Amino acid sequence: MILYGYKGSLVRTTALPGAVCPACNSFNTMQASVYSQYAHVYYIPFFPFSKKAIAQCTSCQQGWEEKGLPAQLHTAVQSAKQSTRLPLWNWAGVGVVAVGIAWAAVAGQRHERDRNAWLVAPRAGDLYTVHSPGDSTKFSLLKVVSAHGNTVEVVQNEYEIDSNDPVSELNAPSKYSKESESLTQLDLQIMHNKGQLTDVTRLD
Ligand SMILES: [Zn+2]
Repeated sequence: MILYGYKGSLVRTTALPGAVCPACNSFNTMQASVYSQYAHVYYIPFFPFSKKAIAQCTSCQQGWEEKGLPAQLHTAVQSAKQSTRLPLWNWAGVGVVAVGIAWAAVAGQRHERDRNAWLVAPRAGDLYTVHSPGDSTKFSLLKVVSAHGNTVEVVQNEYEIDSNDPVSELNAPSKYSKESESLTQLDLQIMHNKGQLTDVTRLD
Protein backbone atom coordinates (compact mmCIF):
# COMPACT_ATOMS: atom_id res chain seq x y z
CA MET A 1 0.00 0.00 0.00
CA ILE A 2 1.32 3.40 -0.99
CA LEU A 3 1.08 5.88 1.86
CA TYR A 4 2.72 8.83 0.19
CA GLY A 5 4.47 9.76 -3.02
CA TYR A 6 3.94 12.06 -5.92
CA LYS A 7 1.65 12.20 -8.86
CA GLY A 8 1.32 14.25 -11.98
CA SER A 9 -1.84 15.75 -13.33
CA LEU A 10 -2.59 17.64 -16.50
CA VAL A 11 -3.35 21.27 -15.71
CA ARG A 12 -3.94 22.61 -19.21
CA THR A 13 -3.14 22.24 -22.86
CA THR A 14 -2.53 25.41 -24.80
CA ALA A 15 -1.73 26.22 -28.43
CA LEU A 16 1.65 27.66 -29.32
CA PRO A 17 0.66 30.22 -31.95
CA GLY A 18 3.19 30.86 -34.68
CA ALA A 19 5.27 27.79 -33.89
CA VAL A 20 6.47 25.43 -36.60
CA CYS A 21 6.63 21.69 -35.98
CA PRO A 22 10.28 20.63 -35.97
CA ALA A 23 9.26 17.21 -37.35
CA CYS A 24 6.75 17.92 -40.13
CA ASN A 25 7.17 21.68 -40.59
CA SER A 26 3.43 22.34 -40.18
CA PHE A 27 2.59 25.86 -39.08
CA ASN A 28 0.40 26.59 -36.04
CA THR A 29 -0.07 22.93 -35.13
CA MET A 30 2.03 22.90 -31.96
CA GLN A 31 0.57 22.74 -28.50
CA ALA A 32 2.02 22.52 -25.02
CA SER A 33 0.59 20.47 -22.16
CA VAL A 34 1.53 21.55 -18.67
CA TYR A 35 1.46 19.07 -15.80
CA SER A 36 1.72 19.73 -12.10
CA GLN A 37 3.58 17.31 -9.91
CA TYR A 38 2.25 17.15 -6.40
CA ALA A 39 3.03 15.20 -3.28
CA HIS A 40 0.21 13.10 -1.91
CA VAL A 41 -0.40 11.28 1.35
CA TYR A 42 -2.97 8.50 1.19
CA TYR A 43 -3.91 9.89 -2.22
CA ILE A 44 -4.80 13.27 -0.73
CA PRO A 45 -2.85 15.91 -2.66
CA PHE A 46 -0.66 17.83 -0.23
CA PHE A 47 1.37 20.37 -2.14
CA PRO A 48 2.64 20.85 -5.69
CA PHE A 49 6.40 21.01 -6.12
CA SER A 50 7.01 21.35 -9.84
CA LYS A 51 5.56 21.88 -13.27
CA LYS A 52 6.44 19.88 -16.33
CA ALA A 53 5.60 20.64 -19.92
CA ILE A 54 5.54 18.61 -23.09
CA ALA A 55 5.11 19.88 -26.64
CA GLN A 56 3.14 18.03 -29.26
CA CYS A 57 2.24 18.51 -32.90
CA THR A 58 -1.47 17.99 -33.59
CA SER A 59 -0.69 17.18 -37.22
CA CYS A 60 2.04 14.53 -37.06
CA GLN A 61 1.51 13.67 -33.35
CA GLN A 62 5.23 13.90 -32.63
CA GLY A 63 5.85 14.87 -29.00
CA TRP A 64 8.81 16.24 -27.06
CA GLU A 65 9.53 16.32 -23.37
CA GLU A 66 11.24 19.35 -21.94
CA LYS A 67 14.63 17.67 -21.85
CA GLY A 68 14.69 16.92 -25.56
CA LEU A 69 12.82 20.02 -26.66
CA PRO A 70 14.07 21.49 -29.98
CA ALA A 71 15.55 24.95 -29.42
CA GLN A 72 13.02 26.80 -31.57
CA LEU A 73 10.17 25.67 -29.27
CA HIS A 74 11.94 26.51 -26.05
CA THR A 75 10.68 30.07 -25.51
CA ALA A 76 7.05 29.29 -26.39
CA VAL A 77 6.91 26.22 -24.15
CA GLN A 78 8.58 28.06 -21.26
CA SER A 79 6.08 30.89 -21.47
CA ALA A 80 3.15 28.45 -21.62
CA LYS A 81 4.55 26.78 -18.54
CA GLN A 82 5.11 30.01 -16.65
CA SER A 83 1.62 31.33 -17.37
CA THR A 84 0.02 28.13 -16.08
CA ARG A 85 -1.12 28.45 -12.50
CA LEU A 86 -1.09 25.34 -10.41
CA PRO A 87 -4.58 24.39 -9.28
CA LEU A 88 -5.51 25.12 -5.70
CA TRP A 89 -6.61 21.56 -5.05
CA ASN A 90 -2.94 20.52 -5.24
CA TRP A 91 -2.68 22.20 -1.80
CA ALA A 92 -5.68 20.38 -0.28
CA GLY A 93 -3.71 18.51 2.38
CA VAL A 94 -1.72 21.57 3.46
CA GLY A 95 -5.02 23.46 3.67
CA VAL A 96 -6.58 20.81 5.87
CA VAL A 97 -3.54 20.75 8.16
CA ALA A 98 -3.49 24.57 8.38
CA VAL A 99 -7.18 24.67 9.29
CA GLY A 100 -6.57 21.99 11.92
CA ILE A 101 -3.67 23.93 13.46
CA ALA A 102 -5.71 27.15 13.51
CA TRP A 103 -8.63 25.33 15.11
CA ALA A 104 -6.37 23.78 17.76
CA ALA A 105 -4.86 27.20 18.53
CA VAL A 106 -8.30 28.76 18.98
CA ALA A 107 -9.50 25.85 21.11
CA GLY A 108 -6.29 26.05 23.17
CA GLN A 109 -6.76 29.75 23.83
CA ARG A 110 -10.36 29.20 24.80
CA HIS A 111 -9.41 26.44 27.20
CA GLU A 112 -6.71 28.67 28.70
CA ARG A 113 -9.34 31.39 29.32
CA ASP A 114 -11.74 28.86 30.86
CA ARG A 115 -9.01 27.42 33.05
CA ASN A 116 -8.07 30.82 34.43
CA ALA A 117 -11.70 31.77 35.02
CA TRP A 118 -12.44 28.47 36.77
CA LEU A 119 -9.36 28.79 38.92
CA VAL A 120 -10.41 32.16 40.36
CA ALA A 121 -14.05 31.10 40.81
CA PRO A 122 -13.92 27.47 41.95
CA ARG A 123 -17.02 25.34 42.08
CA ALA A 124 -17.72 22.02 43.79
CA GLY A 125 -16.83 19.26 41.35
CA ASP A 126 -13.93 21.09 39.66
CA LEU A 127 -10.96 18.82 39.05
CA TYR A 128 -7.38 20.02 39.22
CA THR A 129 -4.75 18.04 37.36
CA VAL A 130 -1.63 18.13 39.52
CA HIS A 131 1.91 16.85 39.29
CA SER A 132 3.12 14.43 41.80
CA PRO A 133 5.41 16.60 44.00
CA GLY A 134 8.61 14.65 43.32
CA ASP A 135 7.97 13.47 39.78
CA SER A 136 6.79 15.65 36.91
CA THR A 137 5.83 12.65 34.76
CA LYS A 138 3.17 11.46 37.20
CA PHE A 139 -0.21 13.13 37.43
CA SER A 140 -3.04 12.96 39.84
CA LEU A 141 -6.21 14.88 40.66
CA LEU A 142 -7.58 17.15 43.31
CA LYS A 143 -11.36 17.40 43.45
CA VAL A 144 -13.11 20.45 44.84
CA VAL A 145 -15.77 19.39 47.35
CA SER A 146 -16.77 22.90 48.36
CA ALA A 147 -15.72 26.48 47.82
CA HIS A 148 -16.36 29.31 50.29
CA GLY A 149 -14.96 32.78 49.83
CA ASN A 150 -11.23 32.46 49.63
CA THR A 151 -10.98 28.81 50.52
CA VAL A 152 -11.59 25.57 48.69
CA GLU A 153 -11.94 22.16 50.26
CA VAL A 154 -10.36 19.50 48.09
CA VAL A 155 -9.92 15.75 48.27
CA GLN A 156 -6.76 14.17 46.91
CA ASN A 157 -6.99 11.33 44.44
CA GLU A 158 -5.04 8.37 45.80
CA TYR A 159 -3.73 7.25 42.42
CA GLU A 160 -1.43 8.72 39.82
CA ILE A 161 -0.79 7.93 36.18
CA ASP A 162 1.78 8.74 33.49
CA SER A 163 -0.64 10.79 31.39
CA ASN A 164 -1.27 14.51 31.80
CA ASP A 165 -4.97 13.80 31.21
CA PRO A 166 -5.87 11.67 34.22
CA VAL A 167 -9.54 12.65 34.43
CA SER A 168 -11.10 9.75 32.56
CA GLU A 169 -9.04 7.16 34.38
CA LEU A 170 -8.87 8.51 37.91
CA ASN A 171 -12.08 10.43 38.45
CA ALA A 172 -14.08 7.79 40.32
CA PRO A 173 -15.45 8.58 43.81
CA SER A 174 -13.80 5.51 45.34
CA LYS A 175 -10.35 6.69 44.25
CA TYR A 176 -10.38 9.83 46.35
CA SER A 177 -9.20 10.21 49.92
CA LYS A 178 -11.94 10.47 52.54
CA GLU A 179 -10.11 13.33 54.21
CA SER A 180 -10.41 16.76 52.69
CA GLU A 181 -7.94 19.58 53.00
CA SER A 182 -8.24 23.33 52.68
CA LEU A 183 -6.47 25.38 50.08
CA THR A 184 -6.66 29.11 49.58
CA GLN A 185 -7.05 30.89 46.27
CA LEU A 186 -3.47 31.98 46.67
CA ASP A 187 -2.31 28.38 47.13
CA LEU A 188 -4.03 27.47 43.86
CA GLN A 189 -2.50 30.41 42.00
CA ILE A 190 0.95 29.53 43.29
CA MET A 191 0.54 25.88 42.29
CA HIS A 192 -0.62 27.00 38.85
CA ASN A 193 2.24 29.47 38.39
CA LYS A 194 4.77 26.85 39.46
CA GLY A 195 3.34 24.47 36.87
CA GLN A 196 2.34 22.02 39.56
CA LEU A 197 -1.34 22.46 38.79
CA THR A 198 -1.51 21.97 35.05
CA ASP A 199 -5.20 21.92 34.21
CA VAL A 200 -8.70 22.56 35.43
CA THR A 201 -11.61 20.43 34.31
CA ARG A 202 -15.22 21.38 34.90
CA LEU A 203 -17.57 18.54 34.09
CA ASP A 204 -21.05 19.86 33.43
ZN1 LIG B 1 4.29 17.82 -36.81
